[in-house]
Amino acid sequence: MGLFTRKDPCAICGGKVKGLLSWKIDGQYVCDDCYGTVDLPNNATNYMTIEDFRGYIAFRDENKQLKEQFQITQEVDFGWFDTKFMFDTTNRLLCMDKNLSKTIFEGKHIASFVIKEDSSPLFEGSASGLRRYISSVPDRVMALAPQINQIVMQEQMQRDTERLLDRLDDGKLNNSTGTYTRNINIPKPFQQFYVELRFNHPYWDIFTADMDAPSFNTNTPDVNDYLHDYNQSSMIMEQLAEALMEIAFPGAPEQVVNPVGSAAVSSEESASAAAVDTVTEIQRFKALMDQGIITEEEFTAKKRQLLGI
Ligand SMILES: [Zn+2]
Repeated sequence: MGLFTRKDPCAICGGKVKGLLSWKIDGQYVCDDCYGTVDLPNNATNYMTIEDFRGYIAFRDENKQLKEQFQITQEVDFGWFDTKFMFDTTNRLLCMDKNLSKTIFEGKHIASFVIKEDSSPLFEGSASGLRRYISSVPDRVMALAPQINQIVMQEQMQRDTERLLDRLDDGKLNNSTGTYTRNINIPKPFQQFYVELRFNHPYWDIFTADMDAPSFNTNTPDVNDYLHDYNQSSMIMEQLAEALMEIAFPGAPEQVVNPVGSAAVSSEESASAAAVDTVTEIQRFKALMDQGIITEEEFTAKKRQLLGI
């Protein structure tokens, strides 16, 4: 016998367990091949017996068959840690991996989902339908405009003054003030988009992902630039919500919700409130088009969708 103690064979396949660091389930060694493609929530294997794990391996092998029929019809790039949502809207399948090497979920496994901006919901999907919430972000950003313009103007004056002083001083102050640029830090109106999927699934209860909210440019912060970036990210969230609905709850109704105090109104009032919301929404997108933030095509698509035509 050498320095190394011989390891027991793999508890699943009986194969050789190699390496100094080995996988263990329920106190027993499992080889790399058997453990290799495990895709389970964090630490789930810590609580499994070897029989549980055997059951999971059978599930995983069966799940791999879905990969063969998976036809990627849509891809939503979430940007964070390369998180991608791959959709097969024909066969109603979803995989959170661009190579389809993780668990493939069937539409029926999705119980509900929510997409938020910090703690404010943007989309909520379930068998009862899709609720689209009107974001307060564009209004809050527009409200910042006068303040931002003032800060940018002051900064510009400051830079001009420094340039002038620099010139008068024949460049002597170069080292201390000659850069002319300090960062202008306008706080973000919100920190992140957050996605949460709830499952009816033997191994998965929940999946979460987040994506950083856009930031203001630190050199020349501008409301329209910000709204442009926001709109791009916001459209990714919309694509995600729509694709999730398509695979999980096809044909379910849609509802536009104004988040502030709309829950308490009667059905008649809420119908007219929804109509007003639709008009307000269309006006808002029209304004975005007029400002060149979205194209006419995007506006028309949005308008049709809001009017349900
Ligand atoms: Zn094995």
